[in-house]
Amino acid sequence: MLIIGSDGAFEALPPAMQMLKQGGSALDAVEAAIRIVESQRENHSVGIGGWPNLLGEVELDASIMDGRTRAVGAVGALRGYPHPISVARRVMERLPHVFVVGQGASDFAAEMGFAREEGPTDVAAREWIERIQANVPPEKLPALLQRREMAPWVSLARDPQRVAGTIDVIAIDGQGNIASGVSTSGWAWKYPGRLGDSPIIGAGNYCDNRYGAAACTGFGELAIRGATAHTVVLLMRMGMPLLEACQQALVDLPRPPGAEDESFMNIVAVDRQGNHCGVTNVAAWNKYFYMTPEMDEAMVGHRVFVEERNG
Ligand code: ASP
Repeated sequence: MLIIGSDGAFEALPPAMQMLKQGGSALDAVEAAIRIVESQRENHSVGIGGWPNLLGEVELDASIMDGRTRAVGAVGALRGYPHPISVARRVMERLPHVFVVGQGASDFAAEMGFAREEGPTDVAAREWIERIQANVPPEKLPALLQRREMAPWVSLARDPQRVAGTIDVIAIDGQGNIASGVSTSGWAWKYPGRLGDSPIIGAGNYCDNRYGAAACTGFGELAIRGATAHTVVLLMRMGMPLLEACQQALVDLPRPPGAEDESFMNIVAVDRQGNHCGVTNVAAWNKYFYMTPEMDEAMVGHRVFVEERNG
């Protein structure tokens, strides 16, 4: 049994490990751990406390994958519901689809009886107002708020202080089944409707009992272009050891001309033997958390820094 999570998972792993020890499934543990982080209003990159989009609306993305069957569920740009990971799981279990976004995701959450909670929090709303006032001239505000002219301001989303809080969790249960989940509010001040890698299976999240699992945080557009989580698992399938597969997936990230600066990416991953690792291409983002059954609290894992970059 094992549970690992990205930076931010420290408090979420012990209760989830307890579930695994009591015979709970990897899927249950992943969902439970991520719900804890989604409930932390002071976390501004996940759940209802998340930074809003350009219009001040909180739009949440999440995905969950069952490595036993490769069943998946995902939601994107979900508004009004604080636990996208649970809605994603319900998509997996109740619909013949794998991915539901926008109004459809909110409608489905309502239909499934999830409790509503409207963001942003006061703190996040204040920060949004300050950011908009500081950058958008007053005469341009009506066109922004009426959704007529949003693209000129999307450069605000490239705010290095407002990224990198997405939560990844991967668990292996007592049956040897692996599950992975990712949840995020995405980039602060993003273009409304923007989806990152977190809800996109193969980009920010991938899991297969036969080989292992991987999940990403960082610049989602990059992991989408690189199909990064799936690349890690595919490389393991081809016989590459876990750490090498993660390093290679980072080196391989495609950075088209003009996007060279938007290249930060982190991966956490496990193989089917229960080895785990983290890698990053940002030296400061050097930790993840892991927990095995004999531990009382989550331990820090040190991410391996990958300097080399393609493109
Ligand atoms: N990967 C997330 C996204 O692009 C952001 C993050 O990891 O903080 O939406």
